[in-house]
Amino acid sequence: MCWSAVSTTPARVMACESAYGWYACRAKGRGMRVAVGILSVIGVCHATWPALVVRADGPGHGDAELRMRVLFDSTSGHAGWHTGWGYAALLQLGERTVLFDTGADGQALLSNLARAGVRPSEIDHVVLSHDHPDHAGGLATLLQVSPHPEVHIPRGASIRTQQVVRAAGARLTLVSRPTRIAPRVHSTGPLGKRIPEQALVLTTETGLVVVAGCAHPGLERMLRAARRLHRRPIDTVAGGWHLLNASRQRIRRVIAALRRLDVRRVIPGHCTGRQMVRALRDAWGDAFIDGAVGRPLPFPLDR
Ligand SMILES: [Zn+2]
Ligand SMILES: [Zn+2]
Repeated sequence: MCWSAVSTTPARVMACESAYGWYACRAKGRGMRVAVGILSVIGVCHATWPALVVRADGPGHGDAELRMRVLFDSTSGHAGWHTGWGYAALLQLGERTVLFDTGADGQALLSNLARAGVRPSEIDHVVLSHDHPDHAGGLATLLQVSPHPEVHIPRGASIRTQQVVRAAGARLTLVSRPTRIAPRVHSTGPLGKRIPEQALVLTTETGLVVVAGCAHPGLERMLRAARRLHRRPIDTVAGGWHLLNASRQRIRRVIAALRRLDVRRVIPGHCTGRQMVRALRDAWGDAFIDGAVGRPLPFPLDR
C-alpha cells in the first residue's frame, strides 16, 4: 500500500503544502495538538499523486486515520486515470481498506487501483451501495483477480449479483439492517423499497463521513439514518446524490437539509448533477471538495 507519495511536479507539491497550511491553521485555532505526518515518501509505487496523512495525537485519539480516493466517476483531474459513468471510492481507516462500489468497468477499476498503489488483495471489504451496473459492474472482474474481500450487498439486490460473489468464492454478507462492517465503518442498512440502497458511514474524530452511491432513497433519508447510527455531527458527505434533473426547489431543500445537519464538507460526484454541484460550490466555498477520480481526499482527525 502506498498512499503517501510525493509528486515531483511543483504544482502538485504546492497543492499539498497549501493543504498542510490549512490543517495546521485549523489545529492551532482549536488549540489542539495535532501531529501532522505529511509529504512523506513511502517506498516506490504506482501512485503519482501526493497523499496527505494527518494523524491525531493525544489522549483517546489513537492512531486511526482516514484516507479516501474516488476510483471511478465521470471526471478525472489527472491524466491516465480511467473515468466512466458510475461510482467507486477507496477508503482506508486504520488497518482496514474498504472499496465502496466498483464502478461500471472492472478493467478500469483495476487500472485505477494500480495507479493508487493498492493491490486487489489488500481490499478487506467491498460494500455495494446497490447493484445497478454503474456501481456493481466492476465486481466480477475484481473478485476474479482476488476473492479475498468480504462483499456486503444490501438485501433485495438481485440474485445475479449474489451469484457473482458466490461463484468467485468470496464471502457474501447480505445486509438487512444497520450493520458494523469493520471498526469505525458501518452501513445504514438498506433504505428504500424500490431500489434498496445502503450508505457507508465512517466514524472519524471530526465526525461522520457518509458516502452514498446514488442516494435513490433520498440523500436526506440516508443522512438521517447515519445520524441514527451515531449521534455525532456529520463532517463530510460524499458520493452520488441522484439530483441530475432536480428542480431549483428540490436543490434548495437538499441544501437546507445539509445546513440543518451542519454538514461541514461536501464531496459530490456521479449523479449529483451540475446544477446541484454549482449550488454546493457556492454554498460551501472552501469546504466544497472536488472528488475527481484519483485525487487523494484528506480527512484530518484533529478534535
Ligand atoms: Zn442506481
Ligand atoms: Zn449510479
